[in-house]
Amino acid sequence: MITTRFAPSPTGRLHVGNIRTALHNWMLARQGGGRFILRIDDTDAARSKEEYVDAIRADLAWLGIDWDLEERQSARLDRYEAAFAALRNTGRLYPCFETAQELEVRRKIALGRGLPPIYDRASLKLTDVEIASKQAEGIAPHWRFKLNHDEPIMWDDGIRGPQKFDAAQLSDPVIRRADGSWLYMMPSAVDDIDMDVTQVLRGEDHVSNTAVQIQIFTALHAAGFAAQTSAANALPSFAHEALLVGREGKLSKRLGSLGCDAFRERGIEPEAIIALLARLGTSQPIEPIADREALVASFDLSTFGRAPAKFDEEDLERLNAGIVHQLSYEAIADRLPAGMDADGWHAIRPNLAHIGEAADWWRLVTGPIDVPAFNEDDRAFIGIAAQSLVWGSNPWADLTLALKAATQRKGRGLFLPLRQALTGMDHGPDMGELLPLIGEEEARARLMRAAALQG
Ligand code: GLU
Repeated sequence: MITTRFAPSPTGRLHVGNIRTALHNWMLARQGGGRFILRIDDTDAARSKEEYVDAIRADLAWLGIDWDLEERQSARLDRYEAAFAALRNTGRLYPCFETAQELEVRRKIALGRGLPPIYDRASLKLTDVEIASKQAEGIAPHWRFKLNHDEPIMWDDGIRGPQKFDAAQLSDPVIRRADGSWLYMMPSAVDDIDMDVTQVLRGEDHVSNTAVQIQIFTALHAAGFAAQTSAANALPSFAHEALLVGREGKLSKRLGSLGCDAFRERGIEPEAIIALLARLGTSQPIEPIADREALVASFDLSTFGRAPAKFDEEDLERLNAGIVHQLSYEAIADRLPAGMDADGWHAIRPNLAHIGEAADWWRLVTGPIDVPAFNEDDRAFIGIAAQSLVWGSNPWADLTLALKAATQRKGRGLFLPLRQALTGMDHGPDMGELLPLIGEEEARARLMRAAALQG
């Protein structure tokens, strides 16, 4: 059974990049009939906030991304202790005493010499006596995971293809701070083991984390850690998506703050966001597909490209209009102006880019409308229209047909003054649908008023 997870850190609101990761993991799970886990990565107690956890849940719910299980790292600290003990017992962890400043100086020196800023393992060389004396001085260590330089790191990435890393080119990661708190690297691997995660799909900014975590997985398995759970000692599959960039092709600050609130305020439907993000960065066409099952069925990692995916807000607007034009009355009745029925929605829907605009168009039906002043000719014509109005099953077709015969007008000269007199606008919804909604009495009154209105 396939299990995926979305693992946000509740240190802020979701932005379009996170939403995309969540969506793709959700689609992967739903497509395979598997499980999708929402995992709150809240080991950073200082920066994690409950209000963000709530907001993440609410945003996912608004987007229609449902989860089968919620986990949180702050409730799993005993598992990290156990993993820590297992790794420590097997010699894969070592205490370090450098201060942040010392590390920064060494990093700068390495960079200055044109060398990669890899941790030099100075603390690994400390003797037991030296370690004991540091601790006697009251210096608490932080802990690093010792990468095995002889163990080649390879995986077949679901998007990037075969990947290979030389462990010697990576720094041994700090997994635990001196105050005992956890950094991201090990808890995430422990969770993926405990939760039987089969597919890890995330942004390419995590590629080097994957390299490290593969060794952590293997070390945990070797230490017998996985045996405490039902998981077989298999690694999840990994796939890393190219990052999202702005329209200009740059990583944009704006994208980092663009989230559900902003979309909602702009009248963007969740389905438009889903339709865009589902296929952005893939070779599949981006279309206003409101049928989520169709999107899920077509989800395919092999269609993802390596180039950054460009997020274009104009695409989103275009998709939104396309989605709105498909929405059924039942689906959005509670968001429409009072009195607007299914016929009203049907008439007005093609003119909308956002549902919020329905009220403006509905005013054409309910009135009052502002009618422009017409010239004498048009007034006479509209006067004839008022006389010719007969209320059958298709009053607009009957009216225009009668006027064509009576006045020899056609095309714009026929339709425009009528539309203006009846709606106050020179464009808008189909008159054939609109006129029955306006109603006979009101339509006649509008025509008579327009016929009388002097310029
Ligand atoms: N909390 C991590 C993040 O938001 C999770 C990364 C992962 O998917 O493992 O980047």
